[in-house]
Amino acid sequence: MSAGFLRSARRPLRPDPECNLRVGGLTALSTTDYPGRLAAVIFCQGCPWRCAYCHNPHLLPRHSERALSWHAVNALLERRRGLLDAVVFSGGEPTLHTGLPAAIRAAKDMGFAVGLHTAGIHPRRLRDVLPMLDWVAMDIKAPFDDYPRITGVAGSGERALESMLQIIASGVAHEFRTTVHPDLLTRDAILDIASTLQFHGARCYALQEFRAQGCTPDRLKTGAPAQHIDAALAHTVSSRFETFEVRHS
Ligand code: SF4
Repeated sequence: MSAGFLRSARRPLRPDPECNLRVGGLTALSTTDYPGRLAAVIFCQGCPWRCAYCHNPHLLPRHSERALSWHAVNALLERRRGLLDAVVFSGGEPTLHTGLPAAIRAAKDMGFAVGLHTAGIHPRRLRDVLPMLDWVAMDIKAPFDDYPRITGVAGSGERALESMLQIIASGVAHEFRTTVHPDLLTRDAILDIASTLQFHGARCYALQEFRAQGCTPDRLKTGAPAQHIDAALAHTVSSRFETFEVRHS
């Protein structure tokens, strides 16, 4: 028996996702993170963008002392077999993690449907995992040429546009969604986003009002009246999609 064969025989059948999947939090049961399914939500640690309204700022650093081991996550999923329908990878930004494909496979091997929440930060890695997904939700933060004003990062709009096109081309069930704060996004900007999505064939879109929970800048907390997405705007946008929803704060 060659040394090479010994090495490969000892190698795990599947790479351990713990190596490259940093988990910053876990919700054991959610009814709102995967449409129509009971889901566990795995919050991946780390995001290179800095959206002013981010309500998970503790997930932005690449490392956290509160990180969970994949072993603990895996154990919870094992216990929830038959009780949950789905696992959602959220963040932070899950596609930053090279362990994401292995973690998705592990969840699917346990019989769960798998969803992904992404901002489209890493289009190449998103492309690689799309065939493994049952559902994907992507944030559309602004008209693509205006992304840096929201994310603080040059070139972010190009990455998001590429990711959006890949999701539509993949045929995977999707939702695009935009967080609306009246100080950050005008009515015209929302209509611009909706037109672009419609033009490229998006079927499902949601507008979600800014929520102050977890958000850091005080100016944003005080600047958004409740129910600030009006019915006329919702009606106009709604007519462009098969499925459309407004989520009030
Ligand atoms: S992309 Fe998402 S996780 Fe990253 S800063 Fe923006 S809202 Fe927060």
